[in-house]
Amino acid sequence: VPTLRLDRLLANLGYGSRREVQGLVHAGLVVLDGAVIDDPDRRIAVTRDLSERMQIQGKPLDPPPGLVLMLHKPLGVTCSHKEAGPLVYSLLPDRWRRRDPALSTVGRLDKETSGLLLMTDDGALLHRIISPRANISKRYRVTLDRPLRGDEAEIFAAGTLMLEGEDKPLLPARMEVISPTGAHLTITEGRYHQVRRMFAAVGNHVTALHRDRIGALDLPADLEPGGYRLLSEADLALVL
Ligand code: URA
Repeated sequence: VPTLRLDRLLANLGYGSRREVQGLVHAGLVVLDGAVIDDPDRRIAVTRDLSERMQIQGKPLDPPPGLVLMLHKPLGVTCSHKEAGPLVYSLLPDRWRRRDPALSTVGRLDKETSGLLLMTDDGALLHRIISPRANISKRYRVTLDRPLRGDEAEIFAAGTLMLEGEDKPLLPARMEVISPTGAHLTITEGRYHQVRRMFAAVGNHVTALHRDRIGALDLPADLEPGGYRLLSEADLALVL
């Protein structure tokens, strides 16, 4: 278990500058296992259950480093600093945006795509999830402009489809029809605008796109657009 000095831990979680959090500690506002800690130099074992054991000004400590959360990304927010519009990070509490290490999205969804988005401050875990070798499936619910022709599932499954401007065919993908203009598409890659471009390649146009599953982890039905929650170890096991 890694240990951190209390003032470093709190500063890294965004509670303030080193000096400011030392002030909180000296004021007796930091409690661990029911007792005030007044020494900011005290080394703290950073365990996953720390939020249940430590309170800051009477409130549970924010999740310690190594967190993974799921967000129900609404339409109109962006995963990229390069794009205009509000960022997904603006949906999180202010303090969480000041964390070091920072939270980042695990892959991206387009601004006009909604659904399940993971975020983490664990770089190694992030790479494990997005690595092509991990082959983690992502399922999208697709709404189309025109009725399906009937040959799309076969074309996507073949592993031969070439997207415009690319020189490597897509890996096989699975499509299940929901309605004449609706389908589920499960892919294991994450190329730029992949789902939209796949349907463009079969003469259609995606009018709405929503990711509802990563690996075996479903977007919970009770997680509203814009809402987020921490992933448990069991949830994470469903992804990997
Ligand atoms: N494919 C897309 O086209 N857009 C997304 O956001 C995700 C997959």
